[in-house]
Amino acid sequence: MTDFKLIADEEWKKRLTPEEFYVLRQAGTEPPHVGEYTNTTTEGVYSCRACGAELFRSTEKFESHCGWPSFFSPLAGDKIVEHTDTSHGMVRTEVRCANCNSHLGHVFEGEGYDTPTDLRYCINSICLNLEEKPVEK
Ligand SMILES: [Zn+2]
Repeated sequence: MTDFKLIADEEWKKRLTPEEFYVLRQAGTEPPHVGEYTNTTTEGVYSCRACGAELFRSTEKFESHCGWPSFFSPLAGDKIVEHTDTSHGMVRTEVRCANCNSHLGHVFEGEGYDTPTDLRYCINSICLNLEEKPVEK
């Protein structure tokens, strides 16, 4: 099995497009409202575009109108890791893929969305691949 955490930047550059590399490996952010999954309601599972690990499901995706795909929970807590991010003069919680340590987006809490967790995992579309398949409710 590949240990994705050991892959060097040079190898990631070969595996990813420049746009994917910028967001996944350099913690960039895609512009709002342009990502392919922003408003997607297709049933399925979202995997990490860098390593293929399953991260989020359509059953936890909700309409946040923030411009990025939003989930109120990951597929499982151990699929992601959270880090405090103090870049850009803000204190935010960064979300990374637990399997390959690639940047996915940020998580915000207490915004008042009508969801079971009041969390918003704000994830870049470019970090995900959607596989259409039935999801257990
Ligand atoms: Zn990954």
